[in-house]
Amino acid sequence: MAVPKRKVSRTRRDKRRTHWKAKNPAISVCPNCLNPKLPHRVCKYCGYYKGETVLEVEE
Ligand SMILES: [Zn+2]
Repeated sequence: MAVPKRKVSRTRRDKRRTHWKAKNPAISVCPNCLNPKLPHRVCKYCGYYKGETVLEVEE
């Protein structure tokens, strides 16, 4: 197995991670119940997606 010849310094290691960050999840609004939901996913509050109810949601 290939092995690194020398230790990566703290600076190099941390510079590599400057782009390593979490981003906010995309949020859209359900056109049926106006609750926030993830885009391209069935609304978990009313089970609505693309103009029809695809999931029955109990109270
Ligand atoms: Zn909804």
